[in-house]
Amino acid sequence: MSAGDEVVVALDVGGTGMKCALVRPDGTTVHTERHATDAQRGPEAVVGTILDVAEGLAGKARADGRSPVACGIAVPGVVDEARGVAVWSANVGFRDVPLRELAGTRLGLPAALGHDVRAGGLAEARLGAGRDAGHVLFVAIGTGIAAAHVVDGSAATGAHGAAGEIGHILVRPGGPRCGCGRAGCLEAVSSASAIGRRYAELSGVPTTAAQVAGRAAGGEPLAVEVWQEAVEALADGLATGQALYDVSTVVLGGGLAQAGPRLFDPLRRALRERLTFHREPRLVAAGLGDEAGCLGAALLALDTLAKESR
Ligand SMILES: [Zn+2]
Repeated sequence: MSAGDEVVVALDVGGTGMKCALVRPDGTTVHTERHATDAQRGPEAVVGTILDVAEGLAGKARADGRSPVACGIAVPGVVDEARGVAVWSANVGFRDVPLRELAGTRLGLPAALGHDVRAGGLAEARLGAGRDAGHVLFVAIGTGIAAAHVVDGSAATGAHGAAGEIGHILVRPGGPRCGCGRAGCLEAVSSASAIGRRYAELSGVPTTAAQVAGRAAGGEPLAVEVWQEAVEALADGLATGQALYDVSTVVLGGGLAQAGPRLFDPLRRALRERLTFHREPRLVAAGLGDEAGCLGAALLALDTLAKESR
């Protein structure tokens, strides 16, 4: 079989759903599937589904005349990528699950295990909006703020699997309480949830971040104030990120990035005001949408193959 027929099996496991694909070595997707995670069934059942789905994808590849050559899986929570273990996850319930070994044994293929946000950042840096940038900070802003620092196509894990987590930079000491327990983290001020919550607190009306963005654009004073607070805190966090990482490109993803120029224009200005000798990074919207994590899992699988052939 020619090399053109080779594919990797890729899964991005989330709290509610799994995005799955067969991906060619050049990063193009030849087949996608979605499955429910049903995390309430417990971690053992979820692991069973992951392995069944992965095996099914490999079978689908063979049935289509392709050759599955490796498997990559991205999961949320704390992931030990070196050992291939899903150490801990709040929403899926993993506790020290050796997923890489389990998948490798079930499929009879080399396997890789990665962290969902780092995998998404990897894909944006290599295939998406940060392509050819070299040094990329990927920031996904939704319910929380998750981030990954990618250098030359490799996502830094840190010593404990938490590198690049700029959502927990302290930007407003004594400010709103963060999910991590501390007051004033970036995530507690600038995540989409935090923006909606802050506006609702002040107005008494339940509101989403997208609605706040829209009302701010229409000039409503309260929305303008809340939006500006969030943008300024985000600029503070990104300025700290830039001092630490000196990236050429910041890729913003997640729901908040869909505010487009309503976010990017004031954020660029606020970031520029805060930088002194540091170079201003390019601020761009993520290009791969919710496929990023799955494509990242595929890249991890391909990287494993490249390492093995060395
Ligand atoms: Zn925090």
